Amino acid sequence: MSEGLTQAAYIVAALFFILSLAGLSKQESARTGNYFGIAGMAIALIATIFGPDAQGIAWIIVAMVIGGGIGIYYAKRVEMTEMPELVAVLHSFVGLAAVLVGYNSFIEPPAMNLANPAEMHAAHVIHMVEVFLGVFIGAVTFTGSIVAFGKLRGIISSSALNIPHKHKWNLAAILVSTALMIYFVKADGSMFALIVMTLIAFAFGYHLVASIGGADMPVVVSMLNSYSGWAAAAAGFMLANDLLIVTGALVGSSGAILSYIMCKAMNRSFISVIAGGFGQTVSVSSDEEEGEHREVSAEDVAEMLKDSRSVIITPGYGMAVAQAQYPVHEITEKLRAKGIDVRFGIHPVAGRLPGHMNVLLAEAKVPYDIVLEMDEINEDFPETDTVLVIGANDTVNPAAMEDPNSPIAGMPVLEVWNAKNVIVFKRSMNTGYAGVQNPLFFKENTAMLFGDAKASVDAISKAI
Ligand code: NDP
Repeated sequence: MSEGLTQAAYIVAALFFILSLAGLSKQESARTGNYFGIAGMAIALIATIFGPDAQGIAWIIVAMVIGGGIGIYYAKRVEMTEMPELVAVLHSFVGLAAVLVGYNSFIEPPAMNLANPAEMHAAHVIHMVEVFLGVFIGAVTFTGSIVAFGKLRGIISSSALNIPHKHKWNLAAILVSTALMIYFVKADGSMFALIVMTLIAFAFGYHLVASIGGADMPVVVSMLNSYSGWAAAAAGFMLANDLLIVTGALVGSSGAILSYIMCKAMNRSFISVIAGGFGQTVSVSSDEEEGEHREVSAEDVAEMLKDSRSVIITPGYGMAVAQAQYPVHEITEKLRAKGIDVRFGIHPVAGRLPGHMNVLLAEAKVPYDIVLEMDEINEDFPETDTVLVIGANDTVNPAAMEDPNSPIAGMPVLEVWNAKNVIVFKRSMNTGYAGVQNPLFFKENTAMLFGDAKASVDAISKAI
């Protein structure tokens, strides 16, 4: 493939990626968005593998078959609830790839044929800086994503790591790395400086994510998404690959915008979250029970629903675990057929991924027009007869508004307790992801329906 054709293919691929992002921003067009992304990536791969700079095509194809095979195997097996973990692992690969590309590019720099020696020197210095920054961002992304994976999987505690002087450690890591970069460039490349910086960046990435508390994890997931984009863009600079730069920048900036949106939704300051500033003033006693709770049976709930005029369902992570979205859709249809107004209230960080609940409900074919965002529905709870809280916990916790010492203080929540009756579907009195007890469970108008959410909703459906 000629150079010109490859560049033209890269432009087409970049346009497909932009169309993909545009498609993914709405549920109705998300599927088309995915197809655009697949098409863009296919064009990009073909243009790169058969492009003018390609060498060792057989090796590339062998690596792609092995890597693709492993990818397909795991992607097919992963449960919807494990999706965030998969995403975190994939981000770590992007980080590691950027580190490896950086080392490779340092050991074997690309040929630069500039006639003017001054230009040649400038290009060389720029390349050195690219290598250093690329390895730094990649290393931070790598260990940060591994910690995020551990936290989401529950292997690492979801509470914030709080070592003394944590901000000073972070600052020191940045200052020492900057000094090493100056030395690296001045010494015309130093393997020693590169290795020391890589180790510092690994520790920095680990610490940065480990010191973010459970409730702020949504921001971490989208932030690492953004970092992985910047790591890819850095690799693009090192390899002088324009498409990788454009794609990396698209991922990096859309991840940053998503992080900002998540921060706004959680009423958090972006800077404080990325500096690991939240979660350390946690009152640990907050997971103790605080009062009496009331239980109901599925049959009672069915009666209550039949007597209601308006019902709001607020799903959360437990609905995803139980895969209860199908029977939830079933009762929605049965109640709507009886003329009862049924709507869904979706908290921006419900579940374990941005948009998690929307995807599940769309999968079960719940009509989009009855699925509302938190801000659209929060004022309607006082006029609602029954709220079904299906596997949600932190996102309906009144402590966020009432207890300034709570780790989730200040986070806007679905104000379900303002409804006439609230039914909470869960298996026990256990806390949610943030590890804080929920005073909602002890309110007078709240009743608990214990058991797996799918079994409970099935039982209600039968009784209706
Ligand atoms: P939570 O994680 O707060 O609570 C989920 C509840 O579901 C638990 O209390 C659990 O109780 C219950 N549950 C689990 N399995 C089942 C089951 N099979 N049947 C019935 N109930 C079940 O959920 P929310 O969605 O309200 O909140 C999301 C939390 O996750 C927030 O803290 C958010 O910050 C965090 N987070 C969100 C991310 C995102 O991007 N959306 C990313 C990372 C974290 P029990 O064990 O008693 O059944």
